[in-house]
Amino acid sequence: MVAKATAKSASRTPAKAAAKSAPKPATKTAATSAAKPATKSTAKPATESTAKRATKTTAKGAANTATSAVAASKSAAPVRKAAAKPESQTALVRRARRINRELAEAYPYAHPELDFENPFQLLIATVLSAQTTDLRVNQTTPALFAKYPTPEAMADADPEELEQLLRPTGFFRAKAKACLGLSAAIRDRFGGRVPNRLEDLVTLPGVGRKTANVVLGNAFGVPGITVDTHFGRLARRFGWTTSEDPVKIEQEVGSLFPKSEWTMLSHRLIFHGRRVCHARKPACGACPIAPLCPSYGEGETDPAKAAKLLKYELGGGPGQRLKPPSDFPGKPAPPLGEG
Ligand code: SF4
Repeated sequence: MVAKATAKSASRTPAKAAAKSAPKPATKTAATSAAKPATKSTAKPATESTAKRATKTTAKGAANTATSAVAASKSAAPVRKAAAKPESQTALVRRARRINRELAEAYPYAHPELDFENPFQLLIATVLSAQTTDLRVNQTTPALFAKYPTPEAMADADPEELEQLLRPTGFFRAKAKACLGLSAAIRDRFGGRVPNRLEDLVTLPGVGRKTANVVLGNAFGVPGITVDTHFGRLARRFGWTTSEDPVKIEQEVGSLFPKSEWTMLSHRLIFHGRRVCHARKPACGACPIAPLCPSYGEGETDPAKAAKLLKYELGGGPGQRLKPPSDFPGKPAPPLGEG
């Protein structure tokens, strides 16, 4: 269920987010792992004491996230090239799990960025999120679910009225058709309840493996890896896979982690991809896992310039959810037409 944001969480945004987003000083383990990259160059941080000092300063005096990220990232900037030795499977697993832990510290509030209150709402929202942002879906679904709160109600919707409600999300005719079809299928084949098995979910119109995993992981607590564009890009940059095929990425990355981590790992990578490790210009100079990443240097390494690339709560802006969980340190997104 979706918890409401509190004034308290909003008010502590800058300092907390800054402290969490700031690049961490690499420990021995991190430096060791980073010294054996899967590919390309890797990172080694400045001395531990320098880094610790920088992190403390950052957490203490952060007036805003961007400023702190700059200060802290100065100490975490990788300084030498990696050894050419290929990374063993054991080292890869260790480094992957270390990245996951570091991301968990950077984003302790990582969560699905679609607003939902039950499995049906999450399923519909995920289908609508194709080719648009979660923000736009979140701005569209309040009116949609107010009018069609159940599969039965949505299955009986007037197609044109439904299309108009879905218009802001783009591809609204195809999406309206999928919503009608999957609502009717849930009503007719599953007694009005969203199924909780992958093999059933993928039989619903407009529902693929990615959507099914989102619903299983977040509405039913069944571990699943969500390979969207961010997850795939980051997994390749981390050297966890070289594949572009979502099913292969899911298998290869899944083999590096215990199942219990799969859902949160997906949220953390997607959070990081949206905020820091962007497709075109990753903010390497403000990245908390720079010392563990073989792709360090693909993006902006200057700390001040990199800090300006940070997005959402790390860049001082609102998140994507209108109703974020209570521990989210950023501001809620504005309703449709207000931002
Ligand atoms: S921002 Fe740069 S250092 Fe950080 S994960 Fe992405 S490519 Fe690696």
